Amino acid sequence: MNDGLPPLRDVIATHDLSARKSLGQNFLLDLNLTQKIARRAGELSECDVLEIGPGPGGLTRALLMEGARKVLAIERDPRFLPALAEIAEAYPGRLQVLEGDALATDPLPHLSAPVRIAANLPYNVGTELLIRWLTPDIWPPFWSSLTLMFQKEVAERIVAEPGSKAYGRLALLAQWRTTPKLAFELPPQTFTPPPKVTSAVVHFEPLQEPRFPAERKKLERVVAAAFGQRRKMLRAALKGVFKDTVGALEAADIPPTARAEEIGLEAFCRLSRQL
Ligand code: SAM
Repeated sequence: MNDGLPPLRDVIATHDLSARKSLGQNFLLDLNLTQKIARRAGELSECDVLEIGPGPGGLTRALLMEGARKVLAIERDPRFLPALAEIAEAYPGRLQVLEGDALATDPLPHLSAPVRIAANLPYNVGTELLIRWLTPDIWPPFWSSLTLMFQKEVAERIVAEPGSKAYGRLALLAQWRTTPKLAFELPPQTFTPPPKVTSAVVHFEPLQEPRFPAERKKLERVVAAAFGQRRKMLRAALKGVFKDTVGALEAADIPPTARAEEIGLEAFCRLSRQL
C-alpha cells in the first residue's frame, strides 16, 4: 500500500522515536499488517474511529487509507506528535490527535456516531479500557465495534468457554453483552522491537440487548467472588455475597458443590438475579 507518506522506519529515524519499554511501545511498521487490522474493524467510511496509542502512526495511516471519516487518536507520549501531524497534513480535516492518557481523557466530545474503536495498546492499559468499554451503565454503548490487540493469552481469556483454564471474569463480561471473535494472531517478530509473547487481534460487536437478563453490578459482584477463589466450591467462594448461599445457588439451578469455571454465562446471570 502506498499513501505517499514515508515508510514508518524512515519516520522513526527522522523523528528519533526509539521505543520506550515503560510505555509498552512495540510498533507495527508493516503497513500491510496494519491495513489487515483496519479492514477487520469493518466498513469505516461512514464512521469516526477512536484509536488509542497511535505511536508513529502505522495503524492510523491504515485506518485513514481504509476510508475512515475521521480518526481521533489519543497518545500519551508527546514525542510522536510531529510524526502524527505529518499524517494529519496528508489527510486534511480527518485526523485529530489528543495528547494525554487514554484512561483519563474523555473522547466523546470529539466524536460523532457511529464510532468504531481500534487500538494496539500496552497490555495493562488495553485490559482496563476494555473493561470500561464493556461495562457502561447504558447499553448499547457509544461504540459499534472494538478491534483490539492483546497478548494472545488475554485474547484467549476473552473468548474462553466454561471448563477451560482461561475461562473467568473477562470471558463472562465480554460474552454477556458482545460477540468477541479472535481475528488473527501476530508473532513477536512482526513488532519492532519484538515483545516476548505472541499477540492476537480480537474484534467485538455489541449485542443490542445483553445475552441474558442481569443487572451489571450484581453480575460483576457474583462473578468476581466466584472466580476470586476459583478452586473452591461455589457454596464456599460465594459466602458473604448471599445471606443464604446454598439457597441462592439451588434457586438458580446450580449445584452448590460446583466450581466457578464449570458454570456458564446463563447460570451466572440467573444467580445474579438471586441477589
Ligand atoms: N499503534 C502503534 C503501532 O501499532 O505501531 C503503537 C503501538 S504501542 C504497542 C502502544 C502505544 O500506546 C504507544 O505509542 C504508547 O506511547 C501509547 N500509550 C501507552 N499508554 C498509553 C495511555 N495510557 N494512553 C494513550 N496512549 C498510550
